[in-house]
Amino acid sequence: MTFQKTNLDHKNPSIINHNQENHNKINLNRENLGLINLNPLQRGGIIPLETRAILNQWLDGYSVCDFCRGCLDKIQRPPIETFVHKTLPKFLGCDEVRITNGAREGKFMIMHTICEKGDWILIDVNAHYSTFVAAERAGLNIEKTPKTSAPEHKINETDFASKIKEMETAGRKPKLALLTYPDGNYGNLPDAKKVAEICRNAEVPLIINGAYAVGRMPINLKEIGADFIVGSGHKSMAASGPIGVVGATKKWAEQVFAKSKNYPLKGVEELGCTSRGHSIISLMASFPYVIKRVANWDKEVENARYFSDEITKIRGIKAIGEQPHNHDLMAFETLVFYEISTTHKRRGFFLYDELKARGITGIKPGLTKNFKLSTFGLTRKEIDKIIGAFKEIAKIK
Ligand SMILES: *Cc1c(COP(=O)(O)O)cnc(C)c1O
Repeated sequence: MTFQKTNLDHKNPSIINHNQENHNKINLNRENLGLINLNPLQRGGIIPLETRAILNQWLDGYSVCDFCRGCLDKIQRPPIETFVHKTLPKFLGCDEVRITNGAREGKFMIMHTICEKGDWILIDVNAHYSTFVAAERAGLNIEKTPKTSAPEHKINETDFASKIKEMETAGRKPKLALLTYPDGNYGNLPDAKKVAEICRNAEVPLIINGAYAVGRMPINLKEIGADFIVGSGHKSMAASGPIGVVGATKKWAEQVFAKSKNYPLKGVEELGCTSRGHSIISLMASFPYVIKRVANWDKEVENARYFSDEITKIRGIKAIGEQPHNHDLMAFETLVFYEISTTHKRRGFFLYDELKARGITGIKPGLTKNFKLSTFGLTRKEIDKIIGAFKEIAKIK
C-alpha cells in the first residue's frame, strides 16, 4: 500500500513555511537558553548532547509504539524491557520498577494502592507539595514530623517513631510513611536508613521520595531498607520528561503494579501505559551519562560546599539548611540583595537583571531576600564566575 502525500508530510516545505509563520506569531523561543542556569529544578534535567542527537528520531507522538504488543515495559525495540526490568532495578536496588510520568505519579500510585480513603499517612514536614496533592487526590489524612527552627530546618529521624506511636494511640496508625530525600527547599539529607528501620519495626511501609536524589547521587532502596522509591527523570536523570521511575520490593510489587482484570497487559495504576514517546527514549539515552555522574557525586558535594563557603563570605549572605551541606541544592538568606532592592529602581528584579547581564539565570525574578540554587554539573570555572558575579552585584549601591 502507498500513502498519498498529505498536509502532515513533514518533508513538504510549504507546510514547514506555514508552521514557521504560525510560530512567528506565538514566540516560542526560549529566552534564557545558553545562560548558566542555577535553578535546582532544572540542573539535573539538562540533556547531554548524545541524547539530543537521538531524540529527533522520536519526537512524533506514540513513537515508541512501533513494535509494542500491549505493554510499555515489554517493548524490545527499542529495548525498554531490558531497561525497566534489568537496568533500573539494579540501579535503584529494587525488585520491580515501572516507568511513570513523574515522581508525583509514583507517589500517588503507591498511596492509592496501599491506602483507603480516610486513612492516615505520616510524612516529613519538608515534603514536596506534590506529596500533599497526591495524598489529597487519594483521599488521605496527613500527619507531619516536625523540624528544627531556622536556619537548619532539619527533620529529626526519631520523630518518625514518636509520631507513629502517637498516631497509633489516637487510633489512626499510619498506613504509609514518606521521607523526602533530600527535600526540595533546603537540600537536607536525613538519615534514610534510620527512618526505614523505625518504619520497619512499626510495620509501616515507607516511600523514599528521591526526586532530587535518583540520577544525581548514589541511592539504593535495598541498602536503605525501605519499601518504595520514586525518582524524577526530568528533575534528576537528564531526561526531557515528563518521566519518572517507581521501584518497589517484592513484597509490594504485585499489589502496586497489578494488571487490569479486563486488560491483562495493562497496569491499573499506570492507567494502562505511561511514557509513550520521546520521554522514555531520553531517559534511556541519558542513562550511561547518568551512571557516570552519579559516580562523581563526591565532587558535586565538594563543589557545592566550595560555592557555599565563598558566597557566605559576602556580608549579608547566610547559608540555610544543614551545614556542612551534603547536596547540590542550597538555600541562602541574602539580606545584602534585599537591602539593594529597597532603593534600586528595578526593585526586586534588579538581581535577576544583573545576573542575566552576566550570563547567569535561574534565580526567580523578583527574589532577593532568600533563594535556592544548585551547582550540580557546573565546572569550577563556571562556579567561580557565579561567585564573582554575586560579589560584584553585592557592591551595587
Ligand atoms: C520536584 C519534586 C517532585 C516532583 O517531581 P515530578 O517528577 O515533577 O513529579 C517531588 N518531590 C520533590 C522533593 C521534588 O523536589
